[in-house]
Parts: sequence; C-alpha cells; structure tokens
Amino acid sequence: MFPGPLGVSLSGDALARGAWSLEARHIRDHGLGRHRAVDDTPAGGGPGMVLRCDVLAAAIDAAAPPGDPRPRLLMSPRGRPLTQALVRELAAGPGAVVVCGRFEGVDERLIEGRGLQEVSIGDYVLSGGEIAAMVLLDACVRLLPGVMGHDASGTEESFEGGLLEYPHYTRPRLWEDRSIPDVLLGGNHAAIARWRRAEAERLTRERRPDLLGEGGKG
Ligand code: SAM
Repeated sequence: MFPGPLGVSLSGDALARGAWSLEARHIRDHGLGRHRAVDDTPAGGGPGMVLRCDVLAAAIDAAAPPGDPRPRLLMSPRGRPLTQALVRELAAGPGAVVVCGRFEGVDERLIEGRGLQEVSIGDYVLSGGEIAAMVLLDACVRLLPGVMGHDASGTEESFEGGLLEYPHYTRPRLWEDRSIPDVLLGGNHAAIARWRRAEAERLTRERRPDLLGEGGKG
C-alpha cells in the first residue's frame, strides 16, 4: 500500500529527492510456521484476530532496535487524537516507527512492553490502519523543510494559531451573482488582515467553538 498517494505530488517529489524517506516492512516476514502466522484468536473469546506479541516484537525490533530514538506509534481508534500540535511534535522529531494493519487488536503486553503510543485519526473505525498511517505521514511530511512550495509553518492555516482558516476567493470577480468581498480588492493590506482575522474567528465560533475553549457554552 505504501507509499500510495504519498508517492505523488509534493510529498512524492520530496520523497524522490530524499527530503524524507519511508521504509515499509511486512509484519508477516516475522510470522510463525509454514503459513507465517502473525495473529491468533482472542484470549477469552470474541470476534476477530489479535496480533501476536512475539511476532510484532520481532518486527518492531528489526525495524527499530532497542535504543532507537524514534517514537513507536500504533494507529488505533482508541489512541491519542491526531492534532496539528502532535503533527508538529512528530515532524520536529527524529522520525517514527508506525505500526498499522488490519487486526481487531494487538496483544496489550506488546503495547506495554515496546512502549507503543496509540494514535487515532478520528472518532470512527476504519477497516485498517494503513490509511490512518498515511494521514499521519502526510500531515508530518508537509511540515518538513523544503517539502512545500511555500512556508507551511505560517500561522494562517487552519489550527495554526487556534483558528480555522478564513475564506479564499479568486477570479472571476463576479460569479453567479456572487462577488468577491470588496475589502479583498481594495489593496489595503491592514484592512485585509483585519477582515481575514474576523472571518477566521467567525468560522471557528460557528463550526468549532471547542477550539476557542467555548465548547460547552453552546
Ligand atoms: N477493534 C478495534 C477497536 O474497536 O478499537 C478496531 C479495529 S479496526 C477494525 C482495524 C484497524 O484499523 C485498527 O487496528 C487500526 O490500526 C485501524 N484504525 C481503525 N480506525 C482507526 C482510527 N480512527 N485511527 C487510527 N487507526 C484506526
């Protein structure tokens, strides 16, 4: 599955020129027996299969021997929510080992024993963790130096500075009786900045009051 969509456009170009790197590994390479089994039925019963701790430990240790400074992440709906703050933290770090797959669960002893940090991309359940891992990687990679065509670390993008981004417009000036707000065409940069700030605050208040710390106030 990898690099998948990360292999095209800005992240793909950056991958090709070595601005970031990706090493995809198969857990099954460490599987047991003739069928290279990686999972087993859940202790105590129940649906689905559970990834074995011995197999996953061997895979993780091969990818990141003890002492490797990179955080070990496990994509999981019960994990810490992926936010722009976490993305920034990861992008500024030494990289990451990201575990993902299509299991009902991972043996809890492995999560504890190898210090896996569970990360969720949202309050919904995907059928597999690969897409979640790609979401995480994409968000991090675009913050790396030299990946974006322009500076992605500015404070105007959604979530940077705690606000959603202001609305954008471009030509034509008039489209289906809708015109571009006059202030954006007047050339007064201070007025444009004020308008954008006010619009960002309005949108955030309407759509994501939780970002303003007003989540419970209706
Ligand atoms: N039994 C798990 C639970 O209830 O928490 C869900 C397993 S899900 C069907 C299969 C895999 O998809 C998970 O192991 C995880 O890697 C991935 N996954 C699903 N939803 C996710 C989410 N919101 N964020 C990150 N990974 C997710």
